[in-house]
Amino acid sequence: MSLVGLVTPADTAETVEQFSFQHKRDHDAINAALLTQGHLVEDVPLDPMQTGQSDSYQWLVLHWQQHNSMNAALGLQGSDLTKFDLSDKEQLQAFIGENYQEHASVYQALADKGVSVGG
Ligand SMILES: [Zn+2]
Repeated sequence: MSLVGLVTPADTAETVEQFSFQHKRDHDAINAALLTQGHLVEDVPLDPMQTGQSDSYQWLVLHWQQHNSMNAALGLQGSDLTKFDLSDKEQLQAFIGENYQEHASVYQALADKGVSVGG
């Protein structure tokens, strides 16, 4: 599993779609890795990501819960990932950057336990 798909600039409908798909796959892979450590993280519908002004907040909250669960399982401190307006291109990109940081921290914490994500 690679994190490369999580840093792609999501600046068109197509790249947002690709990000959304890769991101959900990454959460699935992380959840599978956590399960091997005895942590059950509830599966939530993250794909497709909602970027509309009216529906993105709900998606952000759902996604944040997923991050809270995985961070709690590993004793990591997360940041507020609900503060973005995903209908704004710059904020969407900022979200992608912060989300990537947290995914990378989870990979690191799992690697420290000898667990590789997706493998
Ligand atoms: Zn995420």
